[in-house]
Amino acid sequence: MLNKKITKLLVGTNNRGKLIEIKGLLPKNVKIYSPSDFKIKSPAEIGKNFSENSLIKAKFFSEKSKMVCLSDDSGLEIDVLGGDPGVYSARWGGKNSNFIKAINRVFKELKKKDEDWKIKKIKARFICSLTIYWPNKKIIQSVGKIQGYISPLMRGKNGFGYDPIFIPLNRKITFGQMKSIEKYKIDHRFKAFKKIKKFF
Ligand code: IMP
Repeated sequence: MLNKKITKLLVGTNNRGKLIEIKGLLPKNVKIYSPSDFKIKSPAEIGKNFSENSLIKAKFFSEKSKMVCLSDDSGLEIDVLGGDPGVYSARWGGKNSNFIKAINRVFKELKKKDEDWKIKKIKARFICSLTIYWPNKKIIQSVGKIQGYISPLMRGKNGFGYDPIFIPLNRKITFGQMKSIEKYKIDHRFKAFKKIKKFF
């Protein structure tokens, strides 16, 4: 059976950077709402991985709003830190999601592991799990990843979060130095979205 296209959607995030990026991925005819339109606060992200957390958010926001909801849970995994910050990526920025603070914590943890980390290739990846949750409890999930390295210095003012310290594989500049349209065409969110595009 053909899937009925979604034309009205709650994008389940209170993160402005993500909301802007997800809006850019969706076809223009989709009417988009955000949790702030319904004055809904975000639920606690108590899942063990990105998929569990994106499901928690999509289900929560869909049940509160009675709308179809698309939620994202994403983050940065750094191999030498055992996958941290991972699902704690947002939390490393503290209560006010201060990304300078989060990036400084990355630098501090890397230094603890290896004094010479700045002259080494520090492997990392961004991961994004997307969940669409319908009021009839139907669930669709997808995952996208982009591999890369950690820059020893913050570079660039574009994007959000860890963008100034992430250099994608085979590139020389950070996400923070890329124009947003360039980043959006290759990143983890785009790759996850490609797999669920047919629902829109
Ligand atoms: P959460 O999915 O709301 O738990 O937050 C994920 C966190 O991961 C964000 O607050 C950012 O710190 C980080 N993150 C996820 N995607 C990106 C990205 O595309 N660029 C930079 N940081 C990201």
